[in-house]
Amino acid sequence: MTALTLALSKGRILEDCTPLLTAVGIAPAGDASRLLRLPTQDANVELLVIRPTDVPTYVEYGAADLGIVGKDILLEHGGEALYEPLDLGIARCRLSVATQKDSPLVKGGLDAAGSQRLRVATKYPEMARRYFSARGQQVEIIKLYGSMELAPLVGLSDVIVDLVATGNTLRANGLVEIVTICESSARLVVNKAAMKMKHAAIRALLDRFTLAVGNV
Ligand code: AMP
Repeated sequence: MTALTLALSKGRILEDCTPLLTAVGIAPAGDASRLLRLPTQDANVELLVIRPTDVPTYVEYGAADLGIVGKDILLEHGGEALYEPLDLGIARCRLSVATQKDSPLVKGGLDAAGSQRLRVATKYPEMARRYFSARGQQVEIIKLYGSMELAPLVGLSDVIVDLVATGNTLRANGLVEIVTICESSARLVVNKAAMKMKHAAIRALLDRFTLAVGNV
C-alpha cells in the first residue's frame, strides 16, 4: 500500500476531529498533544500535527499528501493550489464583526460609522480588508495574534473580526456580533500532484472520510 501523510491543524480542529479519525481508522497511535509526527492505527497513514496556518503550506509543497484545516485559514492564507474535496462538517464557526454592546454600531450596523474610519482588530487581515473594501468602507486594520476580544475593551479598536462558535467568548467580554462575514468548517485538502501519483490510495482514504462524515 502507498504510504500517505496527513497534516492536522492542532488546537480546536485536532480536538474536534478525533472521533472522525477513529471512524476513518486513522486514530493517532501516540500522544497527539506532544508529538509532531505520529503513526496511526493504519500502518499506511501517518499524521503531522502543526499550526493551522501552516497546513496549506505543507500540503501545497507535498510535505503532506492531505490536510485538515479550517475554511477560514484557506480563505485567509490561500488554498488555491490545493484540491478541497470534502467539507468535514466539524469545527463549525463563523467569521464575524463584533463590537462593544453599548456601541452605536449594534443598533445601526456598520453604516452607523458614517465617515468615521473604523479601527478593526483581527487575526484575519486579508478577509477583513476584502470585506470592508467590498462595502466601500475605509478602515484601519490592526493585526493581532490572539485575544482579539480585548481590543475594543481597552480602546485599541472599534470592532474586531474574529471566529465565533457559541458566542460565549463575545458575551463574556461584553461584545456583540453585528455582521457575519462567512461561515467556516474543517475541510479535507489534497496536494494536486499526490492526487495523480497516489490516486488509488488517496481515493480510498477519501471514500473512508466521506463514509465517516455521514456517520459521526
Ligand atoms: P465561542 O466562545 O464558542 O464563540 O468561541 C470563540 C472563541 O473560540 C474565539 O476565541 C475563537 O477565535 C475561537 N474559535 C471558535 N471556533 C473556532 C474554530 N473552529 N477554530 C479555531 N478557533 C475557534
